[in-house]
Amino acid sequence: MTFLPRLIIHGGAWDWEDALDAPKTESLHKALSIGWNALQAGRSALQAVEKAVNWLEDDPLFDAGTGSHLNVNGVVEMDALLIDAESNQFGAVGAVTRVRHPITLARKIMTNTKQHFIVGAGADEMASKLGMRLIPNIALVSESEQRYFLEGRTDGASDTVGAIAIDKDGHLAVACSTGGTPLKPAGRIGDTPIFGAGGYADKAYGGAAATGRGEHAMRLMLSRYVVDAIQAGKTANEAAQDAIQHAETRIPHSMLGTIVIDTQGNIGAAHSTPKLACGWIDTDGNPQVTMRGGIVQKATE
Ligand code: ASP
Repeated sequence: MTFLPRLIIHGGAWDWEDALDAPKTESLHKALSIGWNALQAGRSALQAVEKAVNWLEDDPLFDAGTGSHLNVNGVVEMDALLIDAESNQFGAVGAVTRVRHPITLARKIMTNTKQHFIVGAGADEMASKLGMRLIPNIALVSESEQRYFLEGRTDGASDTVGAIAIDKDGHLAVACSTGGTPLKPAGRIGDTPIFGAGGYADKAYGGAAATGRGEHAMRLMLSRYVVDAIQAGKTANEAAQDAIQHAETRIPHSMLGTIVIDTQGNIGAAHSTPKLACGWIDTDGNPQVTMRGGIVQKATE
C-alpha cells in the first residue's frame, strides 16, 4: 500500500523581531523543499527529516548546529532527538559540542549502537567513533550569538528546529535539534532530546515535536500529551490545541509550541508564544510557511 507522504517542520516558538520573519520564512521553504524532494524521490521519512533538519542546523538564523545559543561559559552545547516510529526506536544526544549536525549523530546512535541517549564528552567521542568529523566548538558560533553573549543577553529567540514526516510506506519519523537557551548553565539539557517531551511518536497514532521553554515542556511531557490526545480520538490539530491549552492551565505563560502529524496524514500546530515558525506541504503538494503557527486547514487536512 502506498501512502501520501506528509511533512511539517518548525523553526522555534518565541517572539522574535518581525525583521527576522522573511529570512526565516525563506529558510523554512528551503528545508521543506529538501525534505519534500527526498520523500518524492521515495526516500524514507527518517532521511527526509534528517536532511531538512541538517539544512536548518547549518543556517545560523536558527538555534541548532551553527548559530546555537552560547552557554554561560561561551560554549555551544547542542541536544537532538531522532525517532523512528515504525521500529519504535530513537537516538538522542545531549550537550554535544563538536559536531556540525547533532541530528545525524542521533540517527547514528539509533542505528549503529545499542544505546539510545548519549551526552557530553561521551557524545563527541561517540561521534568520532561513528565516523563523524569533529569540529572546533568555535566553528559553530555565529557572529550574532557571540554578540548576544558579550552583551549578556538572555532574551534571544528560541529558534530550535524540528521536522515530522510520513513516507510512501506510511512510516513516520520525528527530528528535533537545538542549541538550548541563551546563557544556560553548562550541562543544561532541555526538553528537545527527551523522548516524550521534545518529541514523541507512536506508529498507531502519530508523532509530535515541541519547542519553546524546555523546562515547561519537560514537566508536561508535552509531545507525549499530544500523541495521547490523538489516541483519545482527537485530530492532529485538535490534539496540538488541546496540549497547548493544557500547558497554559498547568503553567500559565507556558511559552510552548508543538507540531504534529497523525497517522491519517492530518497535520497540526499550536503555540502559546506570540510566534511559531512553521512550514508544511499542503495536500496539493504546495509548501506553506507561517510565523504565526496556524495551519490553514483544508477539507482533507
Ligand atoms: N525547547 C528548547 C530548549 O529548551 C528551546 C527551543 O525550543 O527553542 O532547549
